[in-house]
Amino acid sequence: MGNICTSRDYSSRPDKIKDSKIIFVVGGPGSGKGTQCAMVVKKYGFTHLSSGDLLRAEVDSGSERGKQLHAIMQKGELVPLDTVLDMIKDAMIAKADVSKGFLIDGYPRELKQGEEFEKKIGKPCLLLYVDAKSETMVKRLLKRGETSGRSDDNEETIKKRLDLYYKATEPVVTFYEKRGIVRKVDSELPVEEVFIQVSKAIDAL
Ligand code: ADP
Ligand code: MG
Repeated sequence: MGNICTSRDYSSRPDKIKDSKIIFVVGGPGSGKGTQCAMVVKKYGFTHLSSGDLLRAEVDSGSERGKQLHAIMQKGELVPLDTVLDMIKDAMIAKADVSKGFLIDGYPRELKQGEEFEKKIGKPCLLLYVDAKSETMVKRLLKRGETSGRSDDNEETIKKRLDLYYKATEPVVTFYEKRGIVRKVDSELPVEEVFIQVSKAIDAL
């Protein structure tokens, strides 16, 4: 059986998300997901949806929901599944007419999130696993924290985010490995070299 690369076969999919490719981009905090996604957008014209960015936008809006989200994110914990999934779904629907592909960055953070996504939206055709050592991630996050203005880029929250990543997110990679759609890229390498690996994975779709 070939890869199912679009959500077209799923009766429960939102109607407008038709023949687009869905790519999950998974990796620890600071592994380089956002960096690689930006390059993919430039080269392939895909739509980049970072769950973290969507949530931060809600926080910045100053809404009541944003305040609750902020408190959770500040602790390095996962926000409720339905909240993130609804945001991703709305953003996908908004872009469905024009998008050739979706990069879902930072989601699923745990297996359950992957299951719910498939039920409500569709199946991914590729999981890009952006892999870096934990020391590397910490170093990059502390550096990013100097300018990012992200309140979770501090030493204490970074440690919690990393712990949660290994506990909750690595099982996601194992799960999709069994389905044969995981491509791991070595994000210890310079950005351009990582991107060569990313491009190969996308070109093979
Ligand atoms: P994520 O979205 O996975 O949390 P980012 O893409 O924001 O990670 O990257 C975290 C930091 O690491 C950024 O400051 C980025 O410039 C840097 N970075 C990302 N990839 C690499 C790389 N391959 N080599 C060196 N630095 C990198
Ligand atoms: Mg990011």
